Amino acid sequence: MELLAPAGSLEKLKAAVLFGADAVYLAGKTYGLRAFSDNFDLEEMKEGIAFAHGHGAKAYVTVNIYARNQDLAGLPDYLKELAEVQADSVVVSDPGVFRLVRQTIPGMPVHISTQANTTNWQAAAFWQELGASRVVLARELAAGDILTIHQQLPQLELEVFVHGAMCMSYSGRCLISNYLTGRDANQGACAQPCRWNYRLVEEKRPGEYYPLLEDERGSYIFNSKDLCLLEQIPLLHQAGVCSLKVEGRMKSVHYVASVIKIYREALDAYAADPENWQIRREWLQELDRISHREYTTGFFLGDDPGSQDAKINLGDNTSGKNHDFLGLVLDYDWEQKRVLLEQRNRFQEGDLLEFVPPQGPSFTVNVAGMTDEEGNPVTAAPHPQQRLYLPFSSAVAPWTMIRRG
Ligand code: SF4
Repeated sequence: MELLAPAGSLEKLKAAVLFGADAVYLAGKTYGLRAFSDNFDLEEMKEGIAFAHGHGAKAYVTVNIYARNQDLAGLPDYLKELAEVQADSVVVSDPGVFRLVRQTIPGMPVHISTQANTTNWQAAAFWQELGASRVVLARELAAGDILTIHQQLPQLELEVFVHGAMCMSYSGRCLISNYLTGRDANQGACAQPCRWNYRLVEEKRPGEYYPLLEDERGSYIFNSKDLCLLEQIPLLHQAGVCSLKVEGRMKSVHYVASVIKIYREALDAYAADPENWQIRREWLQELDRISHREYTTGFFLGDDPGSQDAKINLGDNTSGKNHDFLGLVLDYDWEQKRVLLEQRNRFQEGDLLEFVPPQGPSFTVNVAGMTDEEGNPVTAAPHPQQRLYLPFSSAVAPWTMIRRG
């Protein structure tokens, strides 16, 4: 099974590939969702796709807006550009965009986005008959539903979300964000107001807020947990899934690298010995260290009527701030035996740092003898993205993530 990673920027794309993704999905500046991820201009896309191909990975470009008439004019030229930069597929949801893809770049593989909400085999067959090679199934399906689609359409590639945020509507078919913030969920700009805390106000008593209490902890009716199907790798395989998709083009580079590394290890272990594969505690512990809401298997194992709040996050409405991520290794200076790193969150002399390389085990180091790029001793870096040297007796791979040990 393919491990498919989100690439919200060139940096995240490279990290995803180096930490083990078989493929990445990304968007251009205009016609893809996730309006607030950095997204790629054409030059970055060219570089990113070439980087992925150079490391044996594929790159799929999302063109999954529901286009309005005025969006159509520039699309054929944009699609031709995607073919020129050698995208491995385009991911669409709008039949009009699909039609334009077939007319403009007929040889380009087409994947149907989860935004198209494919929930049954007839719908999947519809897309296959039109020429789609892959369908990204709706998150709302259980393993048995997926298996039925696979059995009916064994040639069709099935991609399934396995990790990341869930939407309590069918993939953004919701207007709360548009209504409250003007940000359109179906243009990739959802502000996630479904997770905010709400109070009741009687119109003649402005300023008097009555709490809405589902239970003593508050009200969480819309606040979904995050999806995690790591433990379900065997069942995903048996259900005929060919691509495991990690959500999160707007998440941090640390998030992408860490999640992909864990899934890579788990998938490799499964491929090596599927009969005896077991979930390892360290994988789950590692996933717990990454910024997330409480995990759920979502709809994959079917509904559990005994647990009404199995998918609702009752703890809090945030995913936690990712202070754990401190920096990134840029290079290793063999002559002076020191690591060049870029700080992302503050750390200082004496702190214990954990280094997480793209491959192999993590290791910890105490900060001592740090200098700035000019060689001046520093005990802490004053600027968020400052570059620093740290003495290191052995080489450290570029892209190694640094976090609090
Ligand atoms: S507000 Fe919540 S339910 Fe609505 S589209 Fe955004 S994530 Fe989904």
